[in-house]
Amino acid sequence: MKQLLKNLTKSLEGEISTDNKDLEYYSTDGGVFELTPTAIVYPIDTNDVSKLVKTVDKFHQNGNDKISLTARGNGTDQGGGPINTGIIVDFMKHMNQILEIGDDYVVVQPGCMYGRLQDELKSNGRYIPSYPASIEVCTIGGAVANNAAGEKTVKYGATRKYVDAIQVVLADGTVTWLHEMNDKQLEHRKSLPGLEGSIFKQLDKLISENYETIHNNHPHVTKESAGYALWKVKKNGHFNAAEVIVGSQGTLCFVTAIRMRTIELPDPNKVSLLVSYYDSIQKAGDAAKEIHELDPSALEVVDSNLINLVNSQKPELLKGLLPEDGHIPAIVLLAEFDNQNDSVRKQKEVEAKEIIHKYAYSSVVKHKPEQEMQMWKLRRSAAAVMWTIPGKKKALPIIEDGTVPPHKLTEFIKRAYEIFEKYDLEIAIWGHAGDADLHMQPFMDLSKAADRRKLFAMTDDFYKMVHELGGTAAGEHNDSLMRSAYRPLMFGPEMEKLFNQVKDIFDPENMLNPHKKVGVDFNFIKKHLRHEYSIESLAKLERQKAQETIDR
Ligand SMILES: Cc1cc2nc3c(=O)[nH]c(=O)nc-3n(C[C@H](O)[C@H](O)[C@H](O)COP(=O)(O)OP(=O)(O)OC[C@H]3O[C@@H](n4cnc5c(N)ncnc54)[C@H](O)[C@@H]3O)c2cc1C
Repeated sequence: MKQLLKNLTKSLEGEISTDNKDLEYYSTDGGVFELTPTAIVYPIDTNDVSKLVKTVDKFHQNGNDKISLTARGNGTDQGGGPINTGIIVDFMKHMNQILEIGDDYVVVQPGCMYGRLQDELKSNGRYIPSYPASIEVCTIGGAVANNAAGEKTVKYGATRKYVDAIQVVLADGTVTWLHEMNDKQLEHRKSLPGLEGSIFKQLDKLISENYETIHNNHPHVTKESAGYALWKVKKNGHFNAAEVIVGSQGTLCFVTAIRMRTIELPDPNKVSLLVSYYDSIQKAGDAAKEIHELDPSALEVVDSNLINLVNSQKPELLKGLLPEDGHIPAIVLLAEFDNQNDSVRKQKEVEAKEIIHKYAYSSVVKHKPEQEMQMWKLRRSAAAVMWTIPGKKKALPIIEDGTVPPHKLTEFIKRAYEIFEKYDLEIAIWGHAGDADLHMQPFMDLSKAADRRKLFAMTDDFYKMVHELGGTAAGEHNDSLMRSAYRPLMFGPEMEKLFNQVKDIFDPENMLNPHKKVGVDFNFIKKHLRHEYSIESLAKLERQKAQETIDR
């Protein structure tokens, strides 16, 4: 390792750190696992990333021990995606520039903070609507590598829909752009020497020979970030290898630049928000199903446990947000319509109100941006409030992204509550009702052996239930460590075999972010469970931002 670091110091322009404080910081992310790296590299540009990969590849070719390379944005992943042994490659320090803003696109380096990028786009009347709730604390590269999604995904889709092209550094150091191609372009790529040509040849063959398996064996949910999206690569006579890179968590290549499509920012004065309160899960689920048909731009859910939690920590946040009788509802739904045509939007509002009157016991409609913002606090402050709960029991992100077909939302919530009762867990539920993607984080104390044992028994039950409902373990937060272990349950052995082949095609030496996506077993993840979970390892900036999110 010493020799490798010496070689890297000579060949790279970016810094290298083996400082214990840095290693400790990079050993965790927003999740419950811990893996300590050997060094951190801060590349200054794509060429530096290429040199890094080539140097490590050569080190392996010379018969030395394997050293892995793992990309990192801002480490807000909640499942261990950016942590590993080996070398962590930090994209945030230097590779954080917006390179070009066009009328309907932007070219950006992966380490750019998503919030900064969005602010810049908004000042030009544009935006990327697939942003995650963590927009203020994550990078755009992390969002692309995770196929992140958020409150607007129900109408506008997830990150992959906005990725036009990706510049990558392959596992042999080759730099290339991936994007949609016609037959002629594909044939040209296949004819290239080295890893690039081999990737195009093998990927095309794999998909052609397994077309039926690929299209019949993935969960039919409206939001999916698990596995490798093979089902997206060949479409309408075109071939797009970038589809398999979006959501691949740095396990296939490094992303060094992204060209993304932007859309017009809706006029905030032409948006309606309907907030409705329900006394039963069944009624809220029935209402959500019907409102979903109206194509809302957001359809979000918050349960009574979350409201009680906010009430105990930040009661001022709830002022004016609940029905006047003071009764805490079992479920709150927030439905937003952003149709810019007034008569279309008003018609949607009328139809949504009819549905709400059938099922809800109370509701309000907001049309003014500042009033809407006030109501959104109820939903958006969820994660931030969770982070600030005192005591040893913490809200753990271990089952926080299960997603089922939208018509199974009611059954999903009911069965989740049954599991929490069985394990005697305190829990709150919030999330994206429109996509039936629910964020649940049970309160547990990882320093207690009993809680650690309970954790995996409970996750077994939870993911089995998600599978029975035809769902996926990861609607937007991706596989990372925990869900990589449960994904075979959702996709089955034939797809898992194909995922393993994809990894071999891109990264034959298993150098890039090993133990994620493929080759993960429970013994490994259990060994690396943290003994204490806190957000201390997240940067100060993140804590400040979390607090600002609450305060906003
Ligand atoms: C409070 C909270 C709320 C969240 N809400 C959401 C949400 O609403 N929706 C959602 O989708 N997620 C959410 N997340 C998860 C996470 O914040 C997002 O997925 C985010 O986009 C990750 O970005 P990051 O910069 O932190 O990436 P990191 O955590 O650093 O990395 C994520 C993955 O991307 C890979 N990666 C990073 N950069 C590159 C690169 N240049 N090349 C190749 N691979 C790379 C890493 O190896 C890792 O596997 C939330 C997290 C928290 C803590």
